[in-house]
Amino acid sequence: MNKEISQAVIRRMPRYYRYLGELLESGVERISSGDLSRLMKVTASQIRQDLNNFGGFGQQGYGYNVPYLYDEIGKILGLNQTHNIIIIGVGNLGLAIANYMKFEKLGFKLVALFDINPNIIGQEVRGIKIRSMEELEDFCRNNAVDIAALTMPKATADNIAHHLVEMGVHAIWNFAHVDLDLPDESVVVENVHLSDSLMQLSYNITKNFK
Ligand code: NAD
Repeated sequence: MNKEISQAVIRRMPRYYRYLGELLESGVERISSGDLSRLMKVTASQIRQDLNNFGGFGQQGYGYNVPYLYDEIGKILGLNQTHNIIIIGVGNLGLAIANYMKFEKLGFKLVALFDINPNIIGQEVRGIKIRSMEELEDFCRNNAVDIAALTMPKATADNIAHHLVEMGVHAIWNFAHVDLDLPDESVVVENVHLSDSLMQLSYNITKNFK
């Protein structure tokens, strides 16, 4: 089903999920499309259009059932399943991600950490051992690895990514500042560049305040 849905719509889904989660936490069971639109600062028609891609979830005169919509968006995003994650490169960034517990609440389970630095190999982060890169192949072949986060220097990222794909890893969360050259049919890549977001902010500062 997701095939025809634009990535722009998919990118808006986590925000809906976040807001609905917060509503649920504050005990809200039902919300009108107008209230949801005011809360999220998105037009009611945008919300309707977005949700209509998945069959629509609102009811005329009732609004949205918050727990139901939350669950359904969770399913759309695949959050009803556990995704096992490994992190490659346990430096500043890798460690920060490894220590961020909230991902686990969303079903992303950290299962292993890898690095080449002998000074940290064998140490544990939240009870998970940092392994050497020599163990990567064995680990991937003997454990379910759904996602590999790449937080090592960019020079090695492409090689490591190819190796991971050969070992059957189908999703890469790429933080290394390099466009990975991988076959589309065997792997999905999500690139994260905090600096892109910062540059966008810089553009908006320049446009609005300078
Ligand atoms: P860091 O130097 O603190 O950590 C890098 C870690 O990778 C080290 O522990 C190192 O031993 C390990 N490493 C080096 N070569 C390796 C290899 N071949 N296999 C496995 N591990 C290896 O650096 P950092 O600040 O954590 O940044 C890590 C990467 O993330 C860099 O590529 C950096 O450019 C990138 N980064 C991206 C963003 C972003 O927004 N995408 C933000 C910050 C950093």
